[in-house]
Amino acid sequence: MRGWHAVSGERQDLYLQRLAFALLVGGGAHTLVCWLILQWGFFRGGDAAFAALFLLIWGGHLALLGFAGLRFNRRLEDPSMTEPLMVWSTAALLLSVAFVEELRLAVMTFFFAILHQGVFRVRRRRVARAAASAVAGYALVLLHLQLNGALPRPVAEWSQWLLFALITLAMVLLASEISSIRLRLRERNRQLSDLLERIQDLAIRDELTGLYARRHAMELLDKACRQSRRGGFLLAVAFVDLDHFKRINDRHGHQFGDRVLVRFAELTHRYLGEKDIVARLGGEEFLLVMPVIDLAQARDSVTGLLDALRAQRFMAAPALEVTASVGLTVAGQNETPDQVMARADHLLYRAKAGGRDRVMTAGPP
Ligand code: GH3
Ligand code: MG
Ligand code: MG
Repeated sequence: MRGWHAVSGERQDLYLQRLAFALLVGGGAHTLVCWLILQWGFFRGGDAAFAALFLLIWGGHLALLGFAGLRFNRRLEDPSMTEPLMVWSTAALLLSVAFVEELRLAVMTFFFAILHQGVFRVRRRRVARAAASAVAGYALVLLHLQLNGALPRPVAEWSQWLLFALITLAMVLLASEISSIRLRLRERNRQLSDLLERIQDLAIRDELTGLYARRHAMELLDKACRQSRRGGFLLAVAFVDLDHFKRINDRHGHQFGDRVLVRFAELTHRYLGEKDIVARLGGEEFLLVMPVIDLAQARDSVTGLLDALRAQRFMAAPALEVTASVGLTVAGQNETPDQVMARADHLLYRAKAGGRDRVMTAGPP
């Protein structure tokens, strides 16, 4: 039972309600039917045997309820205790059936309610095992009674047993069908949620580098701007454009160019902080959004990144040094993301015009 501990209280409360219902209502109905049989004079041992037996059974029911009420079930491997509950209820049923002289089958039909509890919660094989135990247990009770001369109409009794066995078999087959539908549904659900995750990823991430794509980056920048206004930290925004990328592509091939882009993305993970946003705006252009204390801190981060990029070596082009130009600024108090982006873009243009491989910075106006 995954997630039981995580969801904790609420789920345990719901479970307790269901358990109490099953034990009190199920146990109550069982007791009532046996009590009626007692009134009709078919309960072996009479009032005394009935009282002793049901004292024992209710002791068990309440002990189980108390066990779960004190939350001890949460330490078990299966906190729902479905199997132990099935075993106990079946044992209680078989015990009572040993005292009933008429309408034994009617009492045994309570087993289907017990089986039903298990169908949705435990594996197919365990349901089959529980069913086989009940059929065998019923047979043992009849055998015991017969050997002790307490089975006046053995043919009728064994015919009823056969009927019970057949219905139980049908129930198990049905349960098995339900179980396989349940498994198929679970698998389908898993596939769907995987697919959903992929679609969401496709929508917000650039396929080549795994960085955020332009549209999502703009949403994140908008949010970060607002947070910065409220949170009292500065927001640095940098436009990065790899230098002479067209030349790299031309000399070493487009695929090699792709590898350079991926390498740059990897470096951003290594050299920028977890709170920093990195996006690929398109081509060889990237956006960095960084919460910082001041412009100098942002400048240090970006310079570190450019140094690392310049130090990269590529097997297919050992002499190649990849450089980038950056326009870096911080967002002003009342600026829109567009205004900040425009300034970063202008600074990038100046970095290119100034000879590339450099960071141009400016504070807010
Ligand atoms: P500058 O230093 O002025 O930025 O020069 P540049 O060559 O980098 O600039 P330009 O914008 O002219 O060239 C960008 C090149 O990037 C052109 C285009 O073929 C290439 N490009 C765009 N997207 C991709 C991509 O996904 N993979 C590869 N390998 N190349 C790309
Ligand atoms: Mg460009
Ligand atoms: Mg370029």
